[in-house]
Formats: sequence, structure tokens, C-alpha cells
Amino acid sequence: MDRAVLLRSSLACTRTVCRGPAHRLARLSSKRHRPIPSPHRRSFLRNHLRLITTASPPSLHLKGNFCPLSTRAIATSSPQSATDVIEDDVAEKLGFEKVSEQFIEECKSKAVLYKHKKTGAEIMSVANDDENKVFGVVFRTPPKDSTGIPHILEHSVLCGSRKYPLKEPFVELLKGSLHTFLNAFTYPDRTCYPVASTNTKDFYNLVDVYLDAVFFPKCVEDFQTFQQEGWHYELNDPSEDITYKGVVFNEMKGVYSQPDNILGRASQQALFPDNTYGVDSGGDPKVIPKLTFDEFKEFHRKYYHPSNARIWFYGDDDPNERLRLLSEYLDMFDASSAPQESRVERQKLFSEPIRIVEKYPAAESGDLKKKHMVCLNWLISEKPLDLETELALGFLDHLLLGTPASPLRKILLESRLGEAIVGGGVEDELLQPQFSIGLKGVSEDDTQKVEELVMSTLKSLAEEGFDAEAVEASMNTIEFSLRENNTGSFPRGLALMLRSVGKWVYDMDPFEPLKYQGPLAALKARIAKEGSKAVFAPLLEKFILNNPHLVTIEMQPDTEKASHEEAAEKEILDKVKASMTKEDLAELARATHELRLKQETPDPPEALKAVPSLSLQDIPKKPIHVPSEIGEINGVKVLQHDLFTNDVLYSEVVFDLSSLKQELLPLVPLFCQSLLEMGTKDLDFVQLNQLIGRKTGGISVYPFTSSVRGKQDPCSHVIVRGKAMSGRTEDLFNLVNCILQEVQFTDQKRFKQFVSQSKAGMENRLRGRGHGIAAARMDAKLNVAGWISEQMGGVSYLDFLRALEEKVDQNWGEISASLEEIRKSLISRQGCLVNLTADGKNLTNSEKYVSKFLDLLPSTSAVKASSWNARLPSTSEAIIIPTQVNYVGKAANIYETGYQLNGSAYVISKYISNTWLWDRVRVSGGAYGGFCDFDSHSGVFSYLSYRDPNLLKTLNIYDGTGDFLRELEMSDDALTKAIIGTIGDFDALLIGSHRRRKTKETRRDIINKIVNYTMLQDFKEFSGAIDAVKDKGVVVAVASPDDVDAANKERCNFFEVKKAL
Ligand SMILES: [Zn+2]
Repeated sequence: MDRAVLLRSSLACTRTVCRGPAHRLARLSSKRHRPIPSPHRRSFLRNHLRLITTASPPSLHLKGNFCPLSTRAIATSSPQSATDVIEDDVAEKLGFEKVSEQFIEECKSKAVLYKHKKTGAEIMSVANDDENKVFGVVFRTPPKDSTGIPHILEHSVLCGSRKYPLKEPFVELLKGSLHTFLNAFTYPDRTCYPVASTNTKDFYNLVDVYLDAVFFPKCVEDFQTFQQEGWHYELNDPSEDITYKGVVFNEMKGVYSQPDNILGRASQQALFPDNTYGVDSGGDPKVIPKLTFDEFKEFHRKYYHPSNARIWFYGDDDPNERLRLLSEYLDMFDASSAPQESRVERQKLFSEPIRIVEKYPAAESGDLKKKHMVCLNWLISEKPLDLETELALGFLDHLLLGTPASPLRKILLESRLGEAIVGGGVEDELLQPQFSIGLKGVSEDDTQKVEELVMSTLKSLAEEGFDAEAVEASMNTIEFSLRENNTGSFPRGLALMLRSVGKWVYDMDPFEPLKYQGPLAALKARIAKEGSKAVFAPLLEKFILNNPHLVTIEMQPDTEKASHEEAAEKEILDKVKASMTKEDLAELARATHELRLKQETPDPPEALKAVPSLSLQDIPKKPIHVPSEIGEINGVKVLQHDLFTNDVLYSEVVFDLSSLKQELLPLVPLFCQSLLEMGTKDLDFVQLNQLIGRKTGGISVYPFTSSVRGKQDPCSHVIVRGKAMSGRTEDLFNLVNCILQEVQFTDQKRFKQFVSQSKAGMENRLRGRGHGIAAARMDAKLNVAGWISEQMGGVSYLDFLRALEEKVDQNWGEISASLEEIRKSLISRQGCLVNLTADGKNLTNSEKYVSKFLDLLPSTSAVKASSWNARLPSTSEAIIIPTQVNYVGKAANIYETGYQLNGSAYVISKYISNTWLWDRVRVSGGAYGGFCDFDSHSGVFSYLSYRDPNLLKTLNIYDGTGDFLRELEMSDDALTKAIIGTIGDFDALLIGSHRRRKTKETRRDIINKIVNYTMLQDFKEFSGAIDAVKDKGVVVAVASPDDVDAANKERCNFFEVKKAL
């Protein structure tokens, strides 16, 4: 499953998601697979896609590629009805002019484009029956330098506004609203503020807070917010050294510690040397401290103006109400010149290619000669492409790279010139589209060969064309994903908004990206008539092979880069200090203290009251219902969920892993990958993948492990997930049977590729998601389920992969036999479970195929049951990596110290995250994030920080949580807010396509527990459980060598040190 993400997510990481890392859902869902806060919108979307479309071949990103439309195919607007006329009157009276109206068949919506007459603000008002309402406001914010001004502003405007004058209304909304989405994104040229909720009152509350924040933020008058979110000199005592602090400053230090991110940024900047994309909108830590408060204020004044705004509404609320709300804000402004000033200039095409060599910070371990990265990047076109061409290009991208069987991807990986792919293929979210592809883990001497191989492969594909089967598989995959329109827990209306804005923001038609049926049909017809080669070869030739605007980037590992940068930063700061008088230093220490005091002082109750919130009566009494029937077929338990799924059948076949020998556990993820990517006696893996692509919406296989509440033994499974149009149910189950029973584990070369790719992926995770690695490691010290998961995805797994890479060459026979043994112990009807979701008729129809499938399985496992009992030693550990920021964790099993679960635990842990940890770890500590997590299955309560400049200091904050709870004063309002916010989290799990997931507890059960059992007294009593974490908790930090050294000096060798990179 990870494979799908790793494929293509590495390069295009120039967008920055800020605010609350989106780990909320994750914390409530299954712990073993928790996705952890992800800093980039792109990767967030991808991860999210992975979660919900795991069954599909990778990256069927519904990017702009698949949605544009030729003008002749546009559906005509529906005829005007009486309500339309009334709506038009209302709009007119409120100061809006209707520009255009269309019915969008693809999302069954009426969409109206309005212009606010006074300011020119544009509004897309999309009406349909989707309860998950979405609002977003987008400003064009092209930066002129890499001071990170748009990014710091994005953080800062959510720190208090005219109507909501508290420190962080955003956090109040996180705590106490029913939002299904709440965040903000900085792109290279725009800033986007979206919210979503299913509750109408809540939705308008959120909209109002966001509108007030963007148009009337306090940060433009408040220097301290700028210091806190952007940067400032910190000096606790005149005798100490001055340091830089700031949330964005540290966030970006984390970004610049990751080679893939450095590559993505270098590629973009080199492709666009002459326009705004030549600088980093997120901010380069070396440049951020050059930003002044005046520049910051001016940027807001200029660009955060209605004339420069595009506003989106979507869902089942009253379209008139939207305009009423907006007019209140927009009417306060006059038209400005911002739209001219914010226009993004085009980059002219180069006349010849260029080559750039960059360094990235690397650790000394390993063979550095094999750690080079090479990426080829093309700027595809000077002018925006016409819609048909853009669609064809998206299709070409899928053909080249979309699945493991896609030729460019396959040939690059099979060449063994590198370990994993870099570059995201076609990238079309900016004004001009790009194409990037390359490899990492390349030998110093092979970089030239990689470049040649990319070119020769593309050349031969232009000459020879693609297999008909491959074209059919890509077409089916794309059509399936469009039809399914499955965005998981990511609001559908937001996915549509991002697509629409991708054109709208450049003054193009906002409707067209929403419509795909016409252009898709046209493209299909063209391929049928002229053949795929006639369609794709000219694209390859024009945009890539004969295009001189090519930037090749080679990244070289540099073991001294991190320390050089640190030394350079220290030198600057020393100079700053030397230039200050005694009085200046005293003043700086005073200002540092004052800022901290302000950060740590709670908002006054009056200010908190300003943020609108719901009461418990506003929570709908009608629970969201997930129908569920339990039956049996051939002795196997079958769950069925009768839901409308647009004719798609979703299936999961779950196998019990518990009879597997303990030492084979780390091999399970590669076993899963082998099932899908090794081929059978009759079908090589390319044919097998094409067959899956042609007949289904995708199949995926992955392990799942969790603790079970009240039991010693964990549950551990391998899940085969698949989906297909209901008419293809028989094909789906035949294919599932084929991969389970017929795949042969004989391809040594491919297996070695899997190992290298997984190793590269794990190394990347260590740098970018160190808190996930720390969490897994702590779990492995605390329970068996955690130990199993760590064997399959933690530092232990990385160690295993490194050893395995050698072993594949020396003893392939044994590995192949082990893979066979996993199959034997896994595949049987014993302990198997089938989970199906579709509408009633399709469910009934599927039963005969399920029955046939189950018949073909062995009745019992061929391997005797074994028992696992292992944990990692509970020492405090520091995992060392080359980084400028740390990930710090501490955890304990609170059930073992006598805590008895009740519903308040959910409320309390969310509250601790959003108050104590947010204020201390993020706001005053300067980390990008800090949160806690309670796994009610295992009883593990854990703290984690993210991109954290501190180490021991953060542990002290964790240890102070018990006192925080004991001393807590809380009004009834605040308590209600905390309860509602927690209910919102559960709701978010049950909307959209998540609804088809089985949930053990119904929403009603959980809400009852939460509402009836949470009182202030519970918070105070919970401090006992929390103290157990302080006293008995295990500590794992993923951190820089210098910080660990310092910590071990301060706290006499507190950490056992493990070098991981
Ligand atoms: Zn940010």
C-alpha cells in the first residue's frame, strides 16, 4: 500500500499545509495505521487517497488532467425555474451580479458564478444535496522572495481578528466545532482557507470566523504574532546565546532537512527562474529572518482584499444565505488594483537545457557514493494548454508512471540504477504544467546513465507506442475513479474546489475543471479511431523529447552541510549579539519573557465567548446510521453493508495472521507486495496488473495489527481489499483468488527491487515523519501489537530490510520458501472474514461469487498456530538522524496502572492536545506541532512532538500535564465545547465514503458515553493516569546528534543512542 504513495509523491512538495496537522481522524481511527500529521497538502491528499482508494492502482489523482472539457461539449444550463428568479433578485439586492450558471452533471450540482459588483470579488456557489458543506476563500499571493511571507501570513491571520479578538480562534474551532475539515494551505502563488461541516449552524459559524480572520486579522497590528508565527530572536538570559524561534521558521527547517523536499524546491525554482515560482513561498530558513513586519503588513493590505479573492460555497445549505453572509464583509471594501498586481507572469521557455548540482544534508553512515539523486524536469509549455491536450497529457502520465507495470516506472526501477523513483510525473497545479522524473539512491558514477535511460525510454515509447492492454487498463482506472468520485474523509466539495481553483485563479473558467465526461468521451473516441500512438507520440515529442526547457538536477549527499548551516546560523546570531549593548540585551530578554508570558496566559472568558459555538441541543439526535448485517457463507463470517455506492462493489477479505512464525513477521509487507507484483505461471506481473486495471477499480493487500481491549493477545491480519463495478464482481473475486493462490514467488530480481524501494521509503519516513517512527517504537516497547507493527514498519523494519538486501543475493531460495510459508499459514477459511458494501441487489448478486471464492480456499491453515511474545526493551532511546528539528515522544500503558476506560478519555486527550500541548510545545516551544494520543484498545497514552527545536524541554512539558489537569479551571461553556469537538471527530469518521467502514461502537453509544460521562472532575481524575506516563513512561526521540549529545550531558546518559541514517 505504501508503494502506491511512494511512487509519485516525492517531488512536488512545494505546497505547505499549515495549522493543525491533520491527524485528528487518525487519532480516532485504528492506531496501527494512523496516518500522522503531514506537512504538505499534496502528500496529505495522496495519503488520504491511499487510505480510501487503496484498492486502486496508485495515484489516480483527480488532478486537473482528467476534468477539463472542450467548449462544445459543455452541458447546457438547466432551464430557469421560479426559484432561480427569486435567487437572482436576492443576489442583485445584495450587490452581486450573476455571471454564469451551469448544471454540472458530473457532481449533480447547480453552480452559479457571481461577481460582487463593488469589489469584483468572484464567488462560485455550488448547490446540491451533499450534507458535507464546504466554504473556501482563496487569494492570489505571489511572493517576490523566499522570506515565506505568504506562509507566515497564512499562520498569522488565524491568530485573532476584529470580531474574535482571542489568541487563536482557529484553535477554539478545532476544540469546539463539528467541522469535518479545517485548515489552510499556502501554494507557490495562492493561499487557501477552507472549512467544512455537516451542521449548517456550525458551518456558518466557521465561515464567519474565517472571513473575519482573512479580512480583519489582528496580526497586522500585533508584532508579537508575527514574531511567534514567523521569526524572532530569543534570549532567555543576557548571558546565554541568542537563537531564532518561530513556528514557520522551524516548520521550514524540517522541510529543508528532507532531501526529497530540497529536490522538489530546487526543481521548481530552476524551472521558473524568472517568475514567482523561482522563490519559495513557504520560506527558506536562511531567508526568513530577513522579513520585516512592515513588509508583512503591506503584503496583507495588498493581497487579502476582496478584489483579489475567489470564494467557494458548496453543499445543501441555502444559496441566498451564503450571499447574505458574504455581502456583510465584502461591502466594507472598495475595488483595488490587487488583481493586476497579483497576476502570475509566465516563464518563457529556455533555448537550451541546463544542469544543476545541489547538496543535501546526509549522515556519515552507509555508502555515500550510492546516495545521489537525479531528476529531469521539463516545463511543458509556455502558454496554458487547451483542455483536450491537458486531458491527454494526464492520461499519458498515468500510462507512463501510474502503476508498477507502467513502462517508464518499471524500466527505471528494473535498471537497478537507483532505489526509488523521484519526480511526480505531470504536475499541473500551477500556471504552466511540468513533468518530472528521476531516481534516488543512485551511484555517483551512474547519474549520467539515469539521464540517458529516461530519454531513451521516452524515445522508444514515442516510436513504438503503448500496449493496447495498458491503454485499456489506464482508461478503466481513470474512468472508475472519476465515476466513483471517492474522496474518503476529505470533503468532496473541497476536492472539487481545489480542481476548480486550479484554473479559476489564473482567470480561466472555474466550471470547466468540474466536467470530465465530454472530454473523456472525445479522447476515448480519438484513441479508438486513430490509435493510441497517434494521440500520445506527438505529445511526448513536443513536450518532452524536443523541448529544450529541461532542467536536470543532481543532488549529492554532503555530510557536512547540516553542521555548516548550523555554524553559519550561529555566526550570524553571535554577530547580532555582539552588536548589541548591555541595555539592548536586557531589553531582548525582557521581550522574550513578555512574549512567553503572553503565549502562556489564557484568553479572558469574554474573548472566548466571542467565538460562536454550538450547544448540545444543536447536535442532531438522529445518529448517522451504518447498516450492517452479519451472515455466513461456507462457514465464513460475512458482513454486508447495504448502502448506495453508485453501482460499485467494495470488498475486503481478511485473513488471520496469528499462526505465522514470529521471525517471518517482518517479511509480511513484502509478501503483500509480491502478491500484486510478481505474476503467476501464466501471467507476468505486467499482464496481471493490466488485468486488474481493466477489470476492477483496483486491488490492494496489506497487513493490519491492533491490540484488543481487555485481551493480552493482539489481532493481526492481512487484508485484501478490492472494488469493481458490480457487473464485474465475478472478475474481482477471480482475480483476488488468482493473486492469493497462483502468484509465484520466483522472481528474485523483482523482489530485490521491492526491498530497495521499501528501504528508501523507510529512510524517507524517518526524516519526514519521525514522530510516526517514535510512536511505533514506543508501542513496540509497551505491547505485542506494537512490536509486530514496528517489525513491519519501524526502525526494526529498516534494519531488517538492510540485512535482507544482502540476503536476497546470497540465499534467495530460503526467502522464496519463507514467502511460500507465509502464504500457507495465512490462506484458509479458518479465521477468515469477508466484508462487503454495495446496494442490496448487488450484495445478493455477489454472494454466489463469494461462495465460489471461499470454496477454493483451504479449509484450515497448513501451519500450526504459534504464539508471539516479544517487546523491545523499555529503555529511553534516541534514534539519530541528520536533521535540524526533532520528534519527541513519551508513552505508557495507562490500563496497566489501573485506569478504567470511560468516554471522557476521548474528550480529555483532545483537550490536552489543543490547550496544554498546543500552547507549550507549539506556541511557546516553537515546534510545528505537539499532541497526545490515546489508544483505547491497548491503553497506550502517548505524547508526540513534530519538527521540534527542543528535546528535554518538551519532555518536561509532557511531565507537567498532570499538574495542568489538577489545576484546571473550566467553565461549562468550555466543557461543552470540548465535548462537541470530540463528537465532531466521530462524525467526521462516518461521513462520505468512510460510512461503509464497519464501526464497532455506534455513534450514539460513543456520544452517550461522552456527553453523559464527561465532567470537570474527570479531567482532574485523569491526572492520575497521566502521572503514570510521567513516572513510568518510555521515551523515544528521533533527533539530531547534537541535541542528543547535549541532552545526554545534561541528564547523565538518559538516552540510549541508536543511529538510523
Ligand atoms: Zn505552516
